[in-house]
Amino acid sequence: RDKEYVDIHGGIKNTLTMLGHKLKKGNVQLVEEYDLTLPRINAYVGELNQVWTNLIDNALDALDGVPNGRLDIKTKQVNSFLEVSITDNGPGIPEEIKNRIFDPFFTTKDVGKGTGLGLDVVTRIVQQHNGHIKFNSQPGQTTFCVYFPLNGQD
Ligand code: ADP
Ligand code: MG
Repeated sequence: RDKEYVDIHGGIKNTLTMLGHKLKKGNVQLVEEYDLTLPRINAYVGELNQVWTNLIDNALDALDGVPNGRLDIKTKQVNSFLEVSITDNGPGIPEEIKNRIFDPFFTTKDVGKGTGLGLDVVTRIVQQHNGHIKFNSQPGQTTFCVYFPLNGQD
């Protein structure tokens, strides 16, 4: 199993298709803003798709029951990194749990709905690709950004 040079936009599109039922069900407005001139990145395709799935799934969970739910997905270059940002206009992450959301098994969701492993897995995959993750959240807006190195040798 090797890394491949992949266009991340293909994987994001696939993920959106897979989660299409959830987007529709929540009546969520999808806003995509991609820099299609970005180069491919050397990555494990399956793992990368897991990143999009986990982050978009969380965003859609956050939008459950939110009127005028909106999901923004953007790609752009930031210094020597490719940035993918996923923003929802859900309730936001309460201040008192912000330092725990990446902990394995930490979840605020009902039993059976969340394993609390999504962000732990995302972090490990991003690190495996020499990238990093950050988030910013306030009531009414949450953004997760993941960064993958461009022109890396690995
Ligand atoms: P799970 O989705 O199974 O709960 P995750 O590791 O994916 O586990 O997320 C952990 C917790 O982080 C969630 O239960 C939720 O409380 C919080 N969280 C993650 N993404 C968002 C978001 N976009 N908006 C609000 N809370 C979020
Ligand atoms: Mg999750």
